[in-house]
Amino acid sequence: MGSELVDEIFRVFREQGAGEYLGEPVSMTEHMLQSAYAAERTGAPARLVAAALLHDYGHFLHDLPADSAQHGVDTQHEEVAHAFLSRHFGPEIAEPIRMHVAAKRYLCATDPSYSSQLSPASILSLELQGGPYSAAEVAEFDTSPYAADAVRLRRWDDVGKIAGLDTPDLEHYRAVLEAAIRS
Ligand code: FE
Repeated sequence: MGSELVDEIFRVFREQGAGEYLGEPVSMTEHMLQSAYAAERTGAPARLVAAALLHDYGHFLHDLPADSAQHGVDTQHEEVAHAFLSRHFGPEIAEPIRMHVAAKRYLCATDPSYSSQLSPASILSLELQGGPYSAAEVAEFDTSPYAADAVRLRRWDDVGKIAGLDTPDLEHYRAVLEAAIRS
C-alpha cells in the first residue's frame, strides 16, 4: 500500500520534475532532492527529510505555468500540496509543508540576515505571497506546534538551488517515505 503511493509520487516526479524550478538553475526534482539532502546531512529527523523531499509537490499538482509569479499569480502551491499530502501523511509532515511559504514571510520579519540571501525569484514571489509578516502575524505563526519545523524546512528549501550538486536519487528516500505514510 505504502509502496504503491511512493511509486505514484516518484512517477509524478519523473514525469513532471524535469521542468525548471521557478527561474532557478535547477529542475524541480533536483531542487527537492537537494532540500532533502540538506535535511539529511544535518541529521534532521526522518519526518523532516520526508517533508523536505515533498515540500514543493504542489507544483506538480496545479495546472498553472512555472513562471506564474512573473505574471503576478500566486499558485498557492503550499495549500495544493497540503490538500493531497495530508490524505496520506500526518500533520508532522503536511503542516510544515503547508507553512513553508509562511515561514519565508516569518523569517523576513524576524531574521535580518535572511532576506539578503533570498534569490531574485524568491523575492518576487514574496511580494505576491504578502511580503514580510507583521508583528501580529509573527506571533500567530509562533503559536503553531509546527512553526519550528516549518522554519527548518524553509532553510533547506532556500539552499536547494545549486546547479550541478550531486545528491542521492529518489529511491534513496523510498524507505523514509514509506515509513512516513499513515497506516
Ligand atoms: Fe522549494
